[in-house]
Amino acid sequence: MSEVKLDDIVSLAKRRGFIFPSSEIYGGLAGVYDYGPLGVMLKHNIENLWWSSFVIAWDDMYPLDAAILMNKKVWEASGHATGFNDPLIECSNCHSRMRADHVESDKCPVCGKTSTLGKPKEFNMMFKTHIGPVTDDESISYLRPETAQGIFVNFKNVVETFSPDLPFGIAQIGKAFRNEISPREWLFRLRELEQMEIEYFVHPDKWEESFEEWRKGSLSFFEKLGLGSKKVHELEVPKEDRAHYSQRTIDFEYDFPFGRRELSGLAYRGDYDLNAHQKASGQNLEYSPKDGGKAFIPHVIEPSFGLDRAFLAVLAEAYSTDTQGGEQRVFLKLPADLAPIKVAVLPLVKNKPELTKKAKEVYKMLKDELGNVMWVDSGNIGKNYRKMDEIGTPYCVTIDFQTIDDDTVTIRHRDTTDQSRVDIKDILKKVI
Ligand code: ATP
Repeated sequence: MSEVKLDDIVSLAKRRGFIFPSSEIYGGLAGVYDYGPLGVMLKHNIENLWWSSFVIAWDDMYPLDAAILMNKKVWEASGHATGFNDPLIECSNCHSRMRADHVESDKCPVCGKTSTLGKPKEFNMMFKTHIGPVTDDESISYLRPETAQGIFVNFKNVVETFSPDLPFGIAQIGKAFRNEISPREWLFRLRELEQMEIEYFVHPDKWEESFEEWRKGSLSFFEKLGLGSKKVHELEVPKEDRAHYSQRTIDFEYDFPFGRRELSGLAYRGDYDLNAHQKASGQNLEYSPKDGGKAFIPHVIEPSFGLDRAFLAVLAEAYSTDTQGGEQRVFLKLPADLAPIKVAVLPLVKNKPELTKKAKEVYKMLKDELGNVMWVDSGNIGKNYRKMDEIGTPYCVTIDFQTIDDDTVTIRHRDTTDQSRVDIKDILKKVI
């Protein structure tokens, strides 16, 4: 269990523009959050790391961006229309509804009464909508509850257009929607979420080696996110808890501030999905080996990452405190390539044109090179350092009166708060 409190992270994220409650001026919306300016930057950096690790770095990966809305037959074939359910119970006293598997005794966790909880009912978590002006059974569609099915229904398209050799993968990042009975723990259980998923198609005889490759790949991705290896755990999901078609599933769990929970999953799905779509669509979804061998339905390894949960884990891991000058300091110890702002440029005063001019030159030079550089010229320098610490900016470059005379600046490092005097021409070497 982590020592960081979730409330502290939520408060920093709101205060510094990472995460806002959705539609906040109208009281918010349960299980839905908005990414603010710094949140978007951090989220993109996590996505980019995933993309470079699993799409760019692999020879046999095909990216895809399937639409969120799909023909409802997809969800009938995949089993979601009937089986994507959570057990729902209702308290007869306070009428709260909750997930049966989240309640540990016969006491209602909301009103505290005992023996008031009813029998569990199956609740389908897909958001239903209608396509077009007529709202009848024919026009039903769903907001996708996972990105994976968009991949399976495009398997044939990718094979026909690119003739990939097995094994190969199709990768996709996108929104998914789940009408969670009790969204909670901030970004952990959302109703609108983002997934980064890969369906990796393999020869049935080779699934074990691919599974192992993805197990290791997942762990190395968590390391790149800066997640401490002691806080990441592999749970071999026991047979009775696995989907019936899966011969192996690993849940990667992380010690979140509220306990150990699933961060991502790795599942061997066999040929279940392609088979189901072949049957329901009547289309041939077999793969024909290039050596003329017999066509077959490939098997699938699925590494599935939740972007919001990764974001939450990265924030929880980075959230740090220490004491500086007798005062408590909060700082985000983010890995440099995840930090939303790489360097902040701080002119010591605003009303000295030569100093501002120099500072602008430094800012432009760094911005051209690093992109995400922030100009900070309001308020006092100490407070500005604290703000930059709180958003995880690894370096602050301060331009002062001495800079005008000798072209040197002060560089301050976020984690140590150490400051050193550096020539302007050497700043980049120091901060990259
Ligand atoms: P859980 O058991 O926590 O509900 P799950 O096993 O249903 O999760 P999957 O269907 O395997 O999750 O989804 C893959 C990944 O998507 C999860 O590992 C998680 O990172 C993310 N995810 C799933 N549901 C949510 C949610 N409601 N909010 C945020 N992320 C989610």
